[in-house]
Amino acid sequence: MRNSIRRDAGSGMRDAVNCFRLSYRPASRIPHPASRAYLSPMPNHPDVMEKLVSLAKRRGFIFQSSEIYGGTGSVWDYGPLGVELKKNIKDRWWHSMVRARDDIEGIDAAILMHPRVWEASGHVAGFVDPLVDCRNCKKRFRADDPRIKGTPGQPDAQCPACGMKGTLGEARQFNLMFRTFMGPLEDSASIVYLRPETAQGIYVNFLNVQQSTRQKVPFGIAQIGKAFRNEITPGNFIFRTREFEQMEMQFFVEPGTDMTWFEYWKAQRMEWHRALGLEESRLEFHPHAKEELAHYARAAFDIQFDFGGTLGFQEIEGIHNRGDFDLSQHQQYSGKKLEYFDQPNNKRYLPFVIETSVGADRTTLAVLVNGYREETVEGESEGRTVLGLHPSLAPIKAGVFPLVKKDGMPEMAHRIADELRAAYTIFYDDGGAIGRRYRRQDEIGTPFCITIDGESLTNGTVTVRDRDTLKQERVDASQLKTYLGEKLTP
Ligand SMILES: [Zn+2]
Repeated sequence: MRNSIRRDAGSGMRDAVNCFRLSYRPASRIPHPASRAYLSPMPNHPDVMEKLVSLAKRRGFIFQSSEIYGGTGSVWDYGPLGVELKKNIKDRWWHSMVRARDDIEGIDAAILMHPRVWEASGHVAGFVDPLVDCRNCKKRFRADDPRIKGTPGQPDAQCPACGMKGTLGEARQFNLMFRTFMGPLEDSASIVYLRPETAQGIYVNFLNVQQSTRQKVPFGIAQIGKAFRNEITPGNFIFRTREFEQMEMQFFVEPGTDMTWFEYWKAQRMEWHRALGLEESRLEFHPHAKEELAHYARAAFDIQFDFGGTLGFQEIEGIHNRGDFDLSQHQQYSGKKLEYFDQPNNKRYLPFVIETSVGADRTTLAVLVNGYREETVEGESEGRTVLGLHPSLAPIKAGVFPLVKKDGMPEMAHRIADELRAAYTIFYDDGGAIGRRYRRQDEIGTPFCITIDGESLTNGTVTVRDRDTLKQERVDASQLKTYLGEKLTP
């Protein structure tokens, strides 16, 4: 069934345990092969997920949604530091894809779209998972859950949760789109969907953007936005969630030039992830095997990141050659011509699409996992926890501390913090021993700590401590803005 829609890849193959299924792409109907080794290399890194979840809550990166009510399943809220980190990632994407190029335009399409969009895209008919319910414990499973013994609906089938036999109902198709109603009547004519992907908002605006900007093929349209999928088995912190944010770009090209552009975007996108500071050894291309490809897809590669532990290598971005599937579907369902007119050559055609689709939440998680480390510090009994974030991504760029809370140091420190705040996110802290204040900043990835001491009051210099090398430099307070500017340039 799923073969009729986009991103129908065999993530099920790589994720025999379906709690690790990728949220971008519903599982295929391909049975789980005995060996997944070549598809998903063994992780080389330790599992830091549990520690990260705890740090994220304690320091205000990520909270469980509606926690005081017991939480909402696999929905997360970004706290004061998390929203900065994720915003920095989205800004880097927007800058590299839209602002730094003249061949890509940005849009922000609405979440609610005409319901026919999802018929054309194949989601109404095909975005389904086969689901079974246990009559005894009321738990739900995907029908292809490898933990189910026997055939659901038959007396021999055993529930993986409560262990009862014969309580699993027959598999039924479950659509992963969230449905709601537009207007006061809750009838079938007023059903609308929360978009399960942002891409369709780009396809339906293809001609609007092309004609209003006078772009010529090849050109792209990019957007960042929320998408929703009613996943049956989400999990792994913000790796697979029911509400998530995508950064998608659709690049429209002349048929015949598509594979050249596909290769170009593969290289570009990998380079972007490396520039975020993700370790080279943790990044890999994963080609989709023929049986993993949707029928219309001409080629597809994932960029995978090694999350460590049991999660291992998982998709953070997909790069797809989609042919003219999307535009031709919308042309057919809407009855409106979506052809591009190539004036110099006097010909009309439906462009092919190269898509790059990256999860903002997954990239955030990758950046956190990649940066997390615990280490001992020479000459100190207490070790430290560090988030080695790329300085351009760090939520707080510098901590500003008076060494002691007297002799005019707090006044000078406040003045410096206020000045720097015009350009950077700054955290002022005068509580506790200086070592403890450094540790608190290390743990949230702050690249620099500025300390105002006795010498500052006499000659106007301050110390700047580097998070990673622990080296301290004396810098004239009047030069701090320039100093940080140089260090923080991506
Ligand atoms: Zn049960």
